Amino acid sequence: MTGSATGKVYLIGAGPGDPGLITVKGLEALKRCDVVVYDYLANPQLLECARPDAELIYVGKKAGAHTMRQHEINALLVEKASAGRSVARLKGGDPFVFGRGGEEALALAEHGLQFEIVPGVTAAIAASAYAGVPVTHRGIATSFGVVTGHEDPTKPRNEVDWRTIAHGVHTLAVYMGIKNLPMLTQGMLDGGRPASTPAAVISWGTTPRQRCVHGTLNTISDKVREAGISAPAITLIGDVVSLREKLNWFEKLPLFGNRIVTTRPRRQTTEMAASLQRLGAEVIVFPTIRIEPVTDYAQLDDAIARLANFRWIIFTSINGVEMFFDRMLALGRDARSLASCKVAAIGPATAQALRERFVCVDCLPREYVAEEVVAALQEKEDVGGKRILLPCAGAARPVLPHELRRLGAEIEELTLYETSCETDPPAEARQRIVDGEVDVITFTSSSTVANFAKIFGEERAREISEKVMCASIGPITSQTARELGIRIKLEADEHTTNGLVRSLCEWFAKA
Ligand code: SAH
Repeated sequence: MTGSATGKVYLIGAGPGDPGLITVKGLEALKRCDVVVYDYLANPQLLECARPDAELIYVGKKAGAHTMRQHEINALLVEKASAGRSVARLKGGDPFVFGRGGEEALALAEHGLQFEIVPGVTAAIAASAYAGVPVTHRGIATSFGVVTGHEDPTKPRNEVDWRTIAHGVHTLAVYMGIKNLPMLTQGMLDGGRPASTPAAVISWGTTPRQRCVHGTLNTISDKVREAGISAPAITLIGDVVSLREKLNWFEKLPLFGNRIVTTRPRRQTTEMAASLQRLGAEVIVFPTIRIEPVTDYAQLDDAIARLANFRWIIFTSINGVEMFFDRMLALGRDARSLASCKVAAIGPATAQALRERFVCVDCLPREYVAEEVVAALQEKEDVGGKRILLPCAGAARPVLPHELRRLGAEIEELTLYETSCETDPPAEARQRIVDGEVDVITFTSSSTVANFAKIFGEERAREISEKVMCASIGPITSQTARELGIRIKLEADEHTTNGLVRSLCEWFAKA
């Protein structure tokens, strides 16, 4: 949308926390806009969906710590839209539910600027759903209301009339009510709601940090104070709260609440992170490896020109597949150039990357270690005297070419990319690891462990592994860890990232 003559602001509900709860329309607008103006409660993960060149502006609004005042935010939106820019105004939950979206829209309207409202899933609905509380339920609750608890109910002139509200609706959801909880529960009691009415407080609903405390109008304030629950939180009052006992599904996900660190390169983390998140974990991305594609294509281009000379090509990573095929396409070639070769992949993810490029693999080892690849190839045919192309990383383990050569194969190694230790890993993640503010660190290759030790220093890395559970993808990675004194508490039964995720689930099911 760059360069559009007239600007436009999209007031987008980002949803309550779980990034998957943004709407399709909201996400689509976010992806297109020139500028993203976002709040404290909009999940920062969503910012990764913005255009790489988008201007990202944080305007804060954490309770008590306003980075920008409302009139300044309004002015900012007016300024950007007047300059012809498209703006995604990303707000937690729904923009019009205690979100001051109305004020922002009015400011734009006053200036004759264009805007659209994209509703979002509001916290009351979402936190209830993730806590296992249906806000209406046949025979229990036929009405549902939302109210702010931000006001002081002891004020002489009160906008919120708690006594009326007490009997106005069956289920009541209170936003921003944690500080005033004792007063608002008293207001409900004074209004005649029975002391035994079930109540719950859900903080950080829909995220892996979700916590829920439940009790009754009589007990909830004390329970919340004892549990040390703080904002953002929704207070739910009504008989439906008791359904949570049977319907609490989210907190029962196999990895719920576990803070799991991934150490592979950022580009390779997406899939693993997504499956960990689906299982309820919080993922802390801490790449230890940097991938740098070769810049000189001479060797690669030469190999591509001679593909017909090779009996086998063995792909050892998704990265390798991507780079190899990208270069083939750049040279005006495609999968047909592989017509006379047999193709092997080191593991199922690599095989899938090939399938996506319309190549079925002829050989896929049962176990995803170099030694097994050799065995699997040898099962297909004697590799003695055969020419084999091996696209790989510069610093790849030499076992595979070595073993194949021993069997008499003629190996041509082809360096597609160099990997190096990440010298600039994210500072916040690093701090959390040092402070022990994580539950699991996953290692998915020898180099992730080796680089982890390099980044923290061996001594510190050892200490961390005593405090935090370290999990490895397989025996070779575990061996590297042992050599560095890093304690591996769990090794995956199946040596793939999916296998590691499964083993983690089994571990926590037992624990
Ligand atoms: N526009 C937002 C509300 C903003 S007001 C919406 O529609 O959800 C901020 C209040 O919303 C917080 O004080 C808290 O009461 C509630 N809230 C927002 N996100 C929440 C979450 N993930 N869990 C529980 N409450 C949340």
